[in-house]
Amino acid sequence: MNEMQLRFLSRSENEEFARNVVAAFALPLNPTLSELSDVKTAVSEAVTNCIVHAYRGGDGWIEVKCTAEGTRLHIEISDSGRGIDDLEKALTPFYTTLPEEERSGMGFTIMQTFMSQFSVQSERGKGTRVAMSKDFGTRGSDAR
Ligand code: ATP
Ligand code: MG
Repeated sequence: MNEMQLRFLSRSENEEFARNVVAAFALPLNPTLSELSDVKTAVSEAVTNCIVHAYRGGDGWIEVKCTAEGTRLHIEISDSGRGIDDLEKALTPFYTTLPEEERSGMGFTIMQTFMSQFSVQSERGKGTRVAMSKDFGTRGSDAR
């Protein structure tokens, strides 16, 4: 079992930083390029949500925790921002609270689709935590 924790400010340039750190952590699990790309996309969506929604462009801490065990990567991404009012609505495809900023409301749907497991916990005024994992090598056919 291997583990890492990362804490960084909600600046837009840290979105790329976070997704690359998680990808580097995942490499010893021997993911395919497509599996790695799925993970990077999911991390990118979760971190962008913290920057754009949780802190609304202001500065706040984002935490990323990763665990690697066997062929499974587990990722938790949390913020201490505004929280989500209606989680059920937020998880609905195409639902966004920022349509005027050309958000498409697909971030959570993408995370759900690209990862093997996905869940969100949120408390209004306290923050949000996204937990997701991916099992590498379950599709078999990809070149490795
Ligand atoms: P897109 O991801 O396609 O750019 P989006 O961010 O609005 O659009 P989702 O990522 O699916 O879509 O999120 C849906 C809604 O959930 C957001 O519009 C926002 O209201 C809320 N939300 C998501 N993540 C957070 C968060 N970390 N803190 C507060 N609210 C959030
Ligand atoms: Mg989003």
